[in-house]
Amino acid sequence: MNSPRFPLAAVIGSPISHSRSPVMHRYWLSQQQVAGDYTKLDVRADDLRDVLKTLPKMGFVGVNITIPHKQAALELADQVTDRAARIGAANTLVFKDGLIFADNTDGYGFIQNLKTGAPDWNSSLPAVVLGAGGAARAVIVSLLDEGVPTLRLMNRSKAKAEALAQEFGTRVEVRDWDDRSQTLNGAGLLVNTTSLGMVGQPELAIDLNTLPSEAIVTDLVYTPLMTDLLARAQARGNVIVDGLGMLLHQGVPGFEMWFGATPTVDTATRKAVLG
Ligand code: NAP
Repeated sequence: MNSPRFPLAAVIGSPISHSRSPVMHRYWLSQQQVAGDYTKLDVRADDLRDVLKTLPKMGFVGVNITIPHKQAALELADQVTDRAARIGAANTLVFKDGLIFADNTDGYGFIQNLKTGAPDWNSSLPAVVLGAGGAARAVIVSLLDEGVPTLRLMNRSKAKAEALAQEFGTRVEVRDWDDRSQTLNGAGLLVNTTSLGMVGQPELAIDLNTLPSEAIVTDLVYTPLMTDLLARAQARGNVIVDGLGMLLHQGVPGFEMWFGATPTVDTATRKAVLG
């Protein structure tokens, strides 16, 4: 199949109406002066296979995949990157020569955002990760790849954290959720991957007193941009990194593969996505 002259891409999920990905990719298409378009598609789980077979015939060169289809997309792919296989989910698909190639760029986006927002982050110190859901998997894989010596993992449902520790090896140390305020000593990084602090959710209750002042604090939640966790960390002098940059950076590899240009993640992109 030849590359279409007007390449299309999309984000597939359900529900999908809230997604800011089309705004971001359309901004980049215009920034890079690339002819093409990016839309959002609400697809039911039962229809995912048929939709992925049909889209290339309609000029689609690939898609992003979001909740609840990330695991299913990985299983439907013909070829899978190593990082997608380890994370156990796909968020970026490329359609080429009748095949589906699957990647996961969430961990890449997380690390790029962290390094951009906190260039002095010391990856040789222990990291503390709160949460053990889908986003935590990408964060854990990427932090282990960055060489953190130990990763203290805490989750309300401890069994889920223990399953991740079993999967990802002895550098992942599970601690009790109730001990989260006492588990910050010596850490170089604190990451919230839970949905706590998001609009409509309870705040993340954690006492930051024992967190070293050199530690970086980052939150995957980006609605609001300045979560209560980030505001409290900043007030006591920690460098903070908000979650919007992860969303922006994870979009870059997909854009490159579909549209053949490298977009710039800049303040104008942030503004465009925030609306
Ligand atoms: P998920 O798979 O549903 O996991 C949710 C996590 O939050 C679990 O660890 C869950 O603990 C925890 N949690 C929820 N309610 C809680 C409560 N009341 N008390 C304690 N823990 C609670 O969701 P996800 O896909 O990992 O996403 C998590 C967050 O990251 C969301 O806010 C999402 O928007 C954000 N996110 C941001 C980006 C980005 O680009 N910035 C990317 C992906 C995700 P249990 O296991 O005990 O239920």
